[in-house]
Amino acid sequence: MSGESGGGEGGFGRRELSFAEQLARSIANGGPISLAQYMALTNAHYYGTRDPLGANGDFTTAPEISQMFGELIGLALGDVWLRSGQRKPPYYVELGPGRGTLAADAMRAMAQAGVAPIVHFVETSPVLRERQTAHIPHAVFHDDIDTLPTDRPLLIVANEFFDALPVQQSIRTEDGWREMMVGLGEGGRLAPQAGQRVMDHHIPAELRDAPVGSIHESCVAGAAAMLALSRRLAKQGGAALIIDYGYEGPSLGDSLQAVRFHHYADPFAQVGDNDLTAHVDFTVLANAARQEELIVKGPVTQGVFLTLLGIDARAQALAEATPDQAKEIEGAMRRLVARDQMGRLFKVLGLSHRDWPTPEGFA
Ligand code: SAH
Repeated sequence: MSGESGGGEGGFGRRELSFAEQLARSIANGGPISLAQYMALTNAHYYGTRDPLGANGDFTTAPEISQMFGELIGLALGDVWLRSGQRKPPYYVELGPGRGTLAADAMRAMAQAGVAPIVHFVETSPVLRERQTAHIPHAVFHDDIDTLPTDRPLLIVANEFFDALPVQQSIRTEDGWREMMVGLGEGGRLAPQAGQRVMDHHIPAELRDAPVGSIHESCVAGAAAMLALSRRLAKQGGAALIIDYGYEGPSLGDSLQAVRFHHYADPFAQVGDNDLTAHVDFTVLANAARQEELIVKGPVTQGVFLTLLGIDARAQALAEATPDQAKEIEGAMRRLVARDQMGRLFKVLGLSHRDWPTPEGFA
């Protein structure tokens, strides 16, 4: 029992501080924290305490829009495995599987192609683990990549996983590049501010002379995760498909965004109750894979990828099987591939062991 005074049993009772209040208090006492740390703490709280997906949640992802997404990903990976000539079933590994919808659709499509992988999920949220178990009862869970099994090839999928990992931001000031911190602003509200830490040597040479106020992002956690996955693929064999919104760096810009109830929100308000993401630098991910001598395909846009994998034919077959849903199926396909919807912003990166076949879907 703590010896602190105040409140106490039978008194007014001490109200437990909310996550946002605790974080604000710890910044008030200990000083600003880095933006990366802020994003790591708030997202751990956010994902750990809710299922954020779907119409009643904060955002919707491709596998929640249509079964065609997971099916085509499953077929693409199953096809790599079949062409590899391997016999023992591989491991299907998914990072941040959300509700487990993509995995369930992929497993069904793979099973039809005669592939029956053993499923391993990297997922930290207890709430989402429960959702995933409902879809894939035998899934084996991991807190991170390090504990994934080492004895067989891996077929790896990550959809909207890398965008949730914490980014570090640097801001160009009159005195050079400084790390972006989160401190207390007006009225005790959290606010971003340039810190003391000198970041010049972290900025790609060609961007260092950018105008004052410019922002550069880097996702150390994402690069580390990609390197760990690539090492596994290089040792164990297999392939990976990484899908996310992002760009081919190096480039400048502040892509930190918060989403709540399907609308953009202030990343520094409703602390811990917004989904915080940043755009993914696919060049960094591809370079990590190349460092481990993997074959890298893409990135191509999600629209190109799904079209090359035959989403048109799949949509037609589904519409013929369920004519009363033909309109919805057509609409879902449009959302996934149209350039003004998810088709262009979302990109797909394909990786494979250098002695393995490469996945289809890349122009
Ligand atoms: N892939 C799913 C969900 C995307 S949301 C879909 O497409 O619907 C991001 C997912 O990553 C969630 O499952 C979340 O709990 C998980 N996640 C976020 N940060 C993580 C981390 N550091 N380690 C493991 N999982 C994480």
